[in-house]
Amino acid sequence: MVSVDYELRKKVMDAHIHDTLKYCYQCNRCTDNCPISKVAPERYDPRSIILSSFLGIKPSVLEAEDPFALWGCTICDTCDEVCPQNIELTEIFAILKNMSIKRGEGPEYYTQQASTIYENGKAIPMQSAIERRRDDLGLPKIEAPDVQEIQTILNKSKLNVILDKNKEE
Ligand code: SF4
Ligand code: SF4
Repeated sequence: MVSVDYELRKKVMDAHIHDTLKYCYQCNRCTDNCPISKVAPERYDPRSIILSSFLGIKPSVLEAEDPFALWGCTICDTCDEVCPQNIELTEIFAILKNMSIKRGEGPEYYTQQASTIYENGKAIPMQSAIERRRDDLGLPKIEAPDVQEIQTILNKSKLNVILDKNKEE
């Protein structure tokens, strides 16, 4: 039996700024035009994410066995552009991804990458080998980021809390 999570439904409906989600008539245009669905139709389907969010069917979006079912989206915005009902699907996916991370369900590579940025102020840390190579190629020096400043900004978004406390209901 499918159980409906009204909290999930309310969060998605409340957060959707233009309140157009309820006008989705499941035409499938988003999925038909999604580049990810084209290469991985069994694993990623934006139309069904929208349907499950609207209905509050949590296991299909937040507790899916395959995290790719939610995280496969590259936020290319194609679905937003082709939706005849002007539904901003990617806004909804961002809400769901944030919920997924708070529940500790996000793919490990995302949290690892976030930790790297938090600790080093950039996605690819400064490395002496890279600097030597750049010198050899006559490329200009890369300025080291102000890690503390970046951490201050990230702390405002509570990334530090999310990284420390990966499981939060
Ligand atoms: S394209 Fe828009 S209306 Fe059609 S299924 Fe996708 S979200 Fe719903
Ligand atoms: S934004 Fe995501 S769901 Fe929409 S078309 Fe691009 S990859 Fe597919």
